[in-house]
Amino acid sequence: MRQMGTVAENIEAIRARIRAAAERSGRDPRSVRLVAVSKHQPLEVIREAMGAGQMVFGENYLQEAETKVAALGQGLVWHCIGHLQSNKARIAAEIFDCIETLDRLKLAKGLESRLAELGKTMPVLMQVNVGGEGQKAGVSPEKAEQLCRELQQFPHLRLQGFMTMPPFVENPEESRGYFRQLRLLGEELAVQGFLGQHGPMELSMGMSGDFEVAIEEGATLVRVGTALFGERDQAV
Ligand SMILES: *Cc1c(COP(=O)(O)O)cnc(C)c1O
Repeated sequence: MRQMGTVAENIEAIRARIRAAAERSGRDPRSVRLVAVSKHQPLEVIREAMGAGQMVFGENYLQEAETKVAALGQGLVWHCIGHLQSNKARIAAEIFDCIETLDRLKLAKGLESRLAELGKTMPVLMQVNVGGEGQKAGVSPEKAEQLCRELQQFPHLRLQGFMTMPPFVENPEESRGYFRQLRLLGEELAVQGFLGQHGPMELSMGMSGDFEVAIEEGATLVRVGTALFGERDQAV
């Protein structure tokens, strides 16, 4: 692995690469936000990132996220980027500011019921399994429209866009087609009016290895972990 700088240096470097990728594809760099993926990273690392001005964090595991949200308090923005079991929807509704992994009706129902009690509206992204891999979470592209339709019955869920995690590849160029597929699907569903009037469509796609390609294909959220924080400590 290449030598890493400090968290602050890494964040600066990734921001510069985000800007460059946006500019070369004729996009406003401010239209792309960095979600710092802090799963399996200790609080200290998150504090360092906060010190460098990073406010948006992505977490995969509910218990871990709960601890971190409690410890670091308000003011940060927490995105759920991991698979959510329906029986954990209540806690997820309480602690997160955005659910990026909404992929089925049952989960939507669980979130809605708790959000209604809390009087809280939750921005959500629909996770789409563009690679069609059997074992991966996400609604299939063919079923996305149906789920969009079903989500309209939930007043506390605000569908803002789509998220995907394509099959793992060595060369980021191989992800391009999947990112493009998500954008085209999203545009089609936006035209049908499923995203409502909540600002431009969000597309969460791209990770440490391929976020620049994702930005060229329209990503508005990139989820970067390893390139900011180094390898994850699996024991945390
Ligand atoms: C872990 C994870 C990431 C970050 O991956 P890196 O390769 O470390 O940047 C992004 N998205 C999801 C859904 C993840 O689980």
